[in-house]
Amino acid sequence: MPGDSTLRFPLAASIPARTQVGIVGAGPAGLMLGHLLHRQGIDSIIVENRSRQHVVERVRAGVLEQGTVDLMHEVGVGARLGREGLRHRGIYLAFDGARHHIDMAALTGGRAITVYGQNEVVHDLIEARIETGRPLLFEAGDVGVHDLDSSRPRVTFRSAGAAHEVVCDVIAGCDGFHGICRPTIPASHQHIYERVYPFGWLGILAEAAPSSTELVYSRHERGFALFSMRSPTVTRLYLQCAPDEDLGPWTDDRIWSELRARLSTDDGWRPNEGPILQKSVTGMRSFVVEPMRYGRLFLAGDAAHIVPPTGAKGLNLAMADVYRLSGAIAEHYRSGKRAADGLVFREGAGTNVAGAALLVVDDVAAAPQRQRQPVRPSSPARRTGVSCQFDRCHDEPGRELLRRAVRL
Ligand SMILES: Cc1cc2nc3c(=O)[nH]c(=O)nc-3n(C[C@H](O)[C@H](O)[C@H](O)COP(=O)(O)OP(=O)(O)OC[C@H]3O[C@@H](n4cnc5c(N)ncnc54)[C@H](O)[C@@H]3O)c2cc1C
Repeated sequence: MPGDSTLRFPLAASIPARTQVGIVGAGPAGLMLGHLLHRQGIDSIIVENRSRQHVVERVRAGVLEQGTVDLMHEVGVGARLGREGLRHRGIYLAFDGARHHIDMAALTGGRAITVYGQNEVVHDLIEARIETGRPLLFEAGDVGVHDLDSSRPRVTFRSAGAAHEVVCDVIAGCDGFHGICRPTIPASHQHIYERVYPFGWLGILAEAAPSSTELVYSRHERGFALFSMRSPTVTRLYLQCAPDEDLGPWTDDRIWSELRARLSTDDGWRPNEGPILQKSVTGMRSFVVEPMRYGRLFLAGDAAHIVPPTGAKGLNLAMADVYRLSGAIAEHYRSGKRAADGLVFREGAGTNVAGAALLVVDDVAAAPQRQRQPVRPSSPARRTGVSCQFDRCHDEPGRELLRRAVRL
């Protein structure tokens, strides 16, 4: 609902000229970071270029890992998740006409996944943000970040026709894969690991009660298929397809027929069918940039790394990033150092996506910046194989991280 003043917050008059942390992007990463900082008494502004309605209605992730669920409860935004989230003990793997149950909770000492839409997470975090009274701005235009290697980095944007500038101690780039923060970092400071997969997912959202209480991952000669759900009345299903699949020929009948072919098992199980509410094709890509920092700019979530939705990890990684980033920022203020002393976030051992997710805070003197090699553009042909990932790593530690990630 662009232009609806009830959805634009705050009013332009209350946009501050100075804050501690400027957050670009009101996705799960930006909103959770703002909330975590608020709980530690740290001020921030969140600047989002889309409307509140668009952000809340964007259907993406739906599987929350235990760590994300725990975090939501711990920081006071888990009440609705607790009531409405669908807790799953495990998953089904289907092949050769049979479903096999994997009891994840039994294998992991009681940890489980919870199905709760990313849009619901975002909705809850926006409500919490508004409750705090701290600035959250939707529909910001021409968002830019500047002076990142100075002690006064700035976020600039247009709102309601007026130009604004907010001077910050630190800027958090939580603006997703297509945002403006990462491209602001000079190429010579970016170290990129990337793989583009030769297939995509045709995803649908259907008004149909889930016919399985847990997810079904199906391996089939016609291609992979995934049965998933968003609520007791809405099913989410995926078909493996070409990365540039044309949705045009995919009528609803053809989609259901293909889903039946790939998912039905010999015991008579098949997905319930109903009106298709949404269809889309998602390409598959793994991408990690490091370091996740340039001067006073810190990247978090999809801005720094994306993994294919096959793993249902992206939102969970975004939450893990901002949890650590907020702790490091809070420690920085607690330690009494001025930001000009230099915060350094560097990748630590024990990471879960090729070294991108774990951040530790350190002093600039103790962790001198490594010189980064410029990243060469790769041809489409070179982007399809695992070996090309290794080609794109310019140092041996990076290659070893990727070997470990591929082995997992
Ligand atoms: C089909 C699909 C299924 C998925 N399933 C799962 C799953 O089950 N589990 C899981 O964990 N993950 C899943 N993911 C991944 C997950 O959705 C992302 O990892 C997650 O959204 C990352 O959150 P983020 O806040 O980092 O980025 P985003 O959600 O992309 O948020 C970035 C925000 O920044 C805003 N922005 C962009 N540019 C600007 C700008 N110039 N100025 C201001 N704001 C800007 C955007 O509008 C957006 O609101 C899935 C993704 C897809 C596509």
